[in-house]
Amino acid sequence: MSAKRDYYEILGVKKNATLEEIKKAYREMALRYHPDRVPSEQKKEAEEKFKEISEAYAVLSDPQKRALYDQYGHSGIDQRYTYEDIFKGTDFSSIFEDLADFGFGGSLFEDIFGDLGFDLFGRTTRRSTRFRRGRDLEISVEITLEEAAWGTEKTITLPRYENCSTCEGSGTKPGTKKIVCPKCKGTGRSVISSGFFQLTQNCPRCNGEGSIIQTPCPDCRGEGRSKVTRKIKVKIPPGVDTGSHLRIRGEGEAGTAGRGDLYVIIEVKPHPVFERHNNDILTQITISLSKAILGAEVEVPTLNGKVKMKIPPGTQSGKIFRLKGKGIPDVHGRGIGDELIRVNVEIPSHLTHEQRRLIEEFARLSGEDIAKESFTDKIKKAFHS
Ligand SMILES: [Zn+2]
Ligand SMILES: [Zn+2]
Repeated sequence: MSAKRDYYEILGVKKNATLEEIKKAYREMALRYHPDRVPSEQKKEAEEKFKEISEAYAVLSDPQKRALYDQYGHSGIDQRYTYEDIFKGTDFSSIFEDLADFGFGGSLFEDIFGDLGFDLFGRTTRRSTRFRRGRDLEISVEITLEEAAWGTEKTITLPRYENCSTCEGSGTKPGTKKIVCPKCKGTGRSVISSGFFQLTQNCPRCNGEGSIIQTPCPDCRGEGRSKVTRKIKVKIPPGVDTGSHLRIRGEGEAGTAGRGDLYVIIEVKPHPVFERHNNDILTQITISLSKAILGAEVEVPTLNGKVKMKIPPGTQSGKIFRLKGKGIPDVHGRGIGDELIRVNVEIPSHLTHEQRRLIEEFARLSGEDIAKESFTDKIKKAFHS
């Protein structure tokens, strides 16, 4: 590949040119090299030129890209940006807004840059209104932890645009047809003479389509689509979590080139008993002091209802038991999580006389030096003697 020309040179501006000067230079050159304004044998060359000046403008009109270019030249830009990225964020529309009547605008850029597959104007153009996939839709669905664990089916209410069923999306009254646009005779283009220029643009009457609706469909008034509210059943697989996206193909809005997709975004409600940690769930139970010392069989909650769990003698407070496979199935089918149960031992705060005597006896047998009489007993004694 031959060496790239200097961007400043391409636009014919000085290195210290202001943004206004750069804009002005680009506008003038864009007018000069507009491919619709040159004889057809020069069209190819003009398109190349147009690409070149547009790239130079995209870089020099962006302070960050310009600084990078000033410091490192083309290699600085090329290492940092793809060709497509160079144009991202460039505001071409302000340049061409008032020139739109002269055939500038989205369609021109699509014609020239179309192979790159991006839309510099971010707005509808002739081609994209003709062959546009419907919009994607997004809806969030709240489910319980149990539903997230086992999977569920939800019916969601979705307002969306669909092709009008009366005219099947054509916009014309059934039994009638679109007619050839009388203004452009079906070419979709119209020619404007301005002084010695001959400029072409999309036909304003038919919007570049070449045909118009003479008798609009009475149901959609020629729109070809209408807003309807649908109930859609959505299968939610086991293992989803808050933020999971489910893509449902073809349930988005209708477009001229097929329907968009529907994205269902999952929101799992907080659970009163379980806390989720990835595919594991965590809960807590409280057991009595005697059960902790002697061991016992206790009931614990699981996502499947209660199960019995053995607590071994001598269980310490804070110990965590693991119930294998009682957690949440992995959403990608890689196994199933566990349930973790944290055991809290409750120390009784009130003792009967008899209980107290036995605990003291227990302490004595353990060799602990605990006074036979409690502090309050001693005080009482002191007052009564
Ligand atoms: Zn209709
Ligand atoms: Zn027309």
